[in-house]
Amino acid sequence: MSGTRLREAICRFGRSLFERGLTPGSSGNISVRTEDGGWLVTPTNASLGWLDPARLSKLDAAGRLVSGDKPTKEIPLHTAVYETRGAAQAIVHLHSTHAVALTMLPEIDPRAALPPMTPYYLMKAGQTALLPYYRPGDPAVADAIRGLAGRYSSVLLANHGPVVAGDTLEAAVFATEELEETAKLYLLLRNLNPRYLSPAQVQDLVTHFGVELPAGTHDHPHDHG
Ligand SMILES: [Zn+2]
Repeated sequence: MSGTRLREAICRFGRSLFERGLTPGSSGNISVRTEDGGWLVTPTNASLGWLDPARLSKLDAAGRLVSGDKPTKEIPLHTAVYETRGAAQAIVHLHSTHAVALTMLPEIDPRAALPPMTPYYLMKAGQTALLPYYRPGDPAVADAIRGLAGRYSSVLLANHGPVVAGDTLEAAVFATEELEETAKLYLLLRNLNPRYLSPAQVQDLVTHFGVELPAGTHDHPHDHG
């Protein structure tokens, strides 16, 4: 995708996420790898609802600002995900209500924040890790992400929001939406003894669609009931 089209795509997806209430105010940020080894990133204090394609932050391969506005202060988050997930081409980070709510519940498993509720959650978001709370922009969050060693394409930051990587910008956006909707389903069904996908049904999706889950963990789905 050319630089111009990539810029337009970031603004279009940003507006769509904002207009559906998936990240309020000036929260949330998006980054995409560019062909020259650098990144296009949404600027600091910019609402995803009205991004200007010409003012997106362009970073070089070393992370230095080449043009555009000052980038989001959550850059360390993005950098750590790209470092540990070589195939990631785009990252979406939102402050979406249901995913944030999920992070504050006492029973959440940090290695599988959501049970296998729907096939599309597994196929798009895989399995989601939960990291502890860090002050926004705290470089320590990068170390916590590196600690996951790239095993997860979707991560929740406690009391903050989801961070989701994708092979394309579209894939990262769609996976973030699946994560948010699955968190909403979890909250709707919490304490109602819902029937989640069985281990055999999860295994069937893994085999049939080549879903990549962190090794070993999907054999022992925890019981949220
Ligand atoms: Zn944030």
